[in-house]
Amino acid sequence: MAQVTDYRNDIRPNWCPGCGHYGVQAAITDAVTQLDISPEKLAVISGIGCSSRIGGYFYAYGAHTTHGRALPYAQGVKLANQDLEVVVCGGDGDAFAIGMGHTIHAFKRNVNITYVVMDNHVYGLTKGQTSPRSDIGFVTKTSPHGSFESPLPICETAIAAGATFVAQGYMINRAELVELIKQGMQHEGFSFINVFSPCVTYNKRNGYDYFKENLTSLSKIEGYDPSNRAEALKTLGDYQGLLTGLIYEDTTKPCFEKALADANGGPHARALVHDVVKPDATMF
Ligand code: SF4
Repeated sequence: MAQVTDYRNDIRPNWCPGCGHYGVQAAITDAVTQLDISPEKLAVISGIGCSSRIGGYFYAYGAHTTHGRALPYAQGVKLANQDLEVVVCGGDGDAFAIGMGHTIHAFKRNVNITYVVMDNHVYGLTKGQTSPRSDIGFVTKTSPHGSFESPLPICETAIAAGATFVAQGYMINRAELVELIKQGMQHEGFSFINVFSPCVTYNKRNGYDYFKENLTSLSKIEGYDPSNRAEALKTLGDYQGLLTGLIYEDTTKPCFEKALADANGGPHARALVHDVVKPDATMF
């Protein structure tokens, strides 16, 4: 049985004291421990940003890729070795700005990996600029009079783009977040978990007090049905996206790997499903 210490290496995180990302790292560690995924079966792939340092703090396979490009890399890892559990990590700038093209296609493509985004509504590594998730009125060096753009409604965007697992967590609510990550990893297809993870250095507006006052857990909404797409979109609108829990899950759509195999049964498909691709003359 796996232990929490199995995933520790000798690198100490250098996030600021109080950064939310410590809690996300702990929650991912708890989830893979409880699912008994040993380090040699785990790959943690990240992009660029404070949050993306996380891959270096796990004892597991991993790659710290380029800005916004963690998802194509991670999908390649999964398709090349389907025995690996692949967890992709990044921040809201990495995921929803420079990487948004890849994110949208990952939502619709449905490769069987898990994407944990640490959403603090700001760019931290580059010292505090507005991100696609920043609130209207948020004052930064790049928005001295306050941001006047609407924050991207990312969960609605994910559902609209065809995502089959959309959840949102708060790193302070560790038990709920661990369960969401476990559910996401067990979901057959692409699972997206947006995690509110405060930046205590560059975002004083959306700190711990803000999330405590404004977040509502879906467990408090009686009769909420995450398989109902229309209800998910309406509830997100009703709460301006400030929800935690499993927002939407579609278990009817096959993951990319299965869909590819079913599509034509050709040599590429068989190779992808049953074995690592071994090119031969018949494939070209
Ligand atoms: Fe965390 Fe913000 Fe510090 Fe980056 S700048 S480590 S996001 S608190």
